[in-house]
Amino acid sequence: MKLLGSGIFKGMAVTLENFVRSYFDRDRKHHLFTKEYAWKSDAPADQLPARADTTVTTRSRNFPMLLHDGKGSEDPMASIRCVACQICERECPPQCIFIEKEYDANGKFVKRPVIFDIDISVCMSCQICVEVCPFDAIVMNSEFELSNNDRFNGLLVRRDALLKSNDYYHRIHPEEAQERDDRMAREKAEKEAKQAAADAAKKKAAELAAEKAAELAAAKPKVDPAAPTATPQ
Ligand code: SF4
Ligand code: SF4
Repeated sequence: MKLLGSGIFKGMAVTLENFVRSYFDRDRKHHLFTKEYAWKSDAPADQLPARADTTVTTRSRNFPMLLHDGKGSEDPMASIRCVACQICERECPPQCIFIEKEYDANGKFVKRPVIFDIDISVCMSCQICVEVCPFDAIVMNSEFELSNNDRFNGLLVRRDALLKSNDYYHRIHPEEAQERDDRMAREKAEKEAKQAAADAAKKKAAELAAEKAAELAAAKPKVDPAAPTATPQ
């Protein structure tokens, strides 16, 4: 029979073992970090020599990022998924998201954010912004090295720094990204089928209305313009 709370002691024993071994092992990272490494940064590998052994896995979540569907050097803003609906801004519990909508020269809203900032000194990584976004535009990044010596502006992550490609998302969270892509494709197909059915019904209704109008016109008695009209007495 498993004793209630025994898992806590088991975990503490592993921690204690790692802690003690770290004093005798020069390469203590082999005991302090897990080997389930799956995260790859966009930065060149030679700039990140220490990252081969991190605790980051495909299940790691840290702060949010914004997704775009561009490839390579394409302008990420051309395919940004965010439509600046501001739902995440409203729902974020500590209110650390700030969004401003983009307008064109005629003052028309172009469904993109001109400003999208997240204050990561306030963000509590709750993922509520991800849950509420109806456009699959914001997801969690596993990037953890965000330390900065500017405690104010340095922790305000701007739109362009938040923007990551869907390919990057697939690299850090392959299963989740695939599930999201599949669901989006399914929803798009369902929406298109619904729209096609609605268009067909509309067309049919218009045809029926035209037929009815033609029948009514045919049933109406014809007036002969040459026929003599009755003169009043
Ligand atoms: S990330 Fe999603 S919820 Fe937030 S503003 Fe953009 S589209 Fe709306
Ligand atoms: S993870 Fe939570 S706290 Fe951070 S921006 Fe999203 S909703 Fe706000």
